[in-house]
Amino acid sequence: MKALVYDGPSSISWREVPDPSILAPTDAIVRIETTTICGTDLHILKGDVPTVEAGRILGHEGVGIVTEIGAAVAGIAVGDQVIISCISACGTCGYCLDGMYSHCLADEGSSGIGWILGHLIDGTQAEYVRVPFAGTSLHRVPEGVTAEDAAMISDILPTGHEIGVRYGAVEPGDVVAVIGAGPVGLAAMTTAALYGPSRVIAVDIDANRVEQAKRFGASDGVLSSDADWKDQVLALTDGLGVDVAIEAVGVPATWDMCLAIVRPGGHVANVGVHGKPVSFPLETAWIQNLTITTGLVNTDTSRMLIKLLAQGRLAVNGFISHHFALDDILSAYDTFGRAAETKALKVILT
Ligand code: NAD
Ligand code: ZN
Ligand code: ZN
Repeated sequence: MKALVYDGPSSISWREVPDPSILAPTDAIVRIETTTICGTDLHILKGDVPTVEAGRILGHEGVGIVTEIGAAVAGIAVGDQVIISCISACGTCGYCLDGMYSHCLADEGSSGIGWILGHLIDGTQAEYVRVPFAGTSLHRVPEGVTAEDAAMISDILPTGHEIGVRYGAVEPGDVVAVIGAGPVGLAAMTTAALYGPSRVIAVDIDANRVEQAKRFGASDGVLSSDADWKDQVLALTDGLGVDVAIEAVGVPATWDMCLAIVRPGGHVANVGVHGKPVSFPLETAWIQNLTITTGLVNTDTSRMLIKLLAQGRLAVNGFISHHFALDDILSAYDTFGRAAETKALKVILT
């Protein structure tokens, strides 16, 4: 089959590799119909994620058709159209029972950071993918949901929801600021709406992204390149500061921005993957009674989000900006990597 292989920092190729096969009775093989590129793939490509080794097939989002299942797979059959979770987990170990799928103890190589597709095991930017623990990690696409919308459940919707909104403990009436209106930040805005905030403020350096955030539930937008961006945010909170600041970029500047706008007693939920260290002013967090959270997505809320998606209760229309054929994936990486110019949001490969 053909696959997108990471050859080391700044180097990827689309080339012929061996077809995946069932290695454990809990595995399934899925023929990819739709896959995408995530901001994290760009971090990997830059060399920011050293645990990804050369030779790895990238990609952790996708929808496809099950072509083969191991003898112990329950609930999924050959021919099913399924969403592939970005994290594959056994569902039965001590961490999985607590919903901490990203720390599944049954991971290959026992790295302690779970079976992230396109990271420690081969991923979805390929014609076929092997999915371990298919019974937990594959979800049937509900009737009436397109494969493209369903692919937003693999990673970005649970990430924005679990690490941004739930860790940030968004409550009815809260003023929520989301720094970074990329796919993950927009997913946080879409899912924050489920909890009844009074305002959702989208903050981004890119005017196009601030504008499109309104389609995903943002009530207000602030350009972070404006000299008075902080005053603009505070003015939307009666000068108090936001109840919840969600960091969805992954650079030191945006982490500092969250700390600058959160109110005493508020929450800062870091979602971005930080390739560079940030400063952590513990004294500020202490004197302001802040709650600071961060983490890797678990996908333990995916089934709930799929139900809401099928009911039309999640604003997902507009995530997809570009379509490419799977074997044109190098052009898709180029377009996605130049998002400020190309206005790419989610690029879809079929
Ligand atoms: P993206 O690159 O598409 O979007 C980032 C947004 O941040 C862009 O709109 C960009 O204009 C904006 N931005 C950049 N610098 C800024 C600044 N100084 N001020 C304000 N805005 C700025 O990325 P994405 O796909 O939306 O992902 C966001 C982050 O989430 C990434 O770091 C990604 O790796 C991470 N992520 C984390 C998890 C997790 O499990 N925690 C899962 C998936 C993705
Ligand atoms: Zn991702
Ligand atoms: Zn487990």
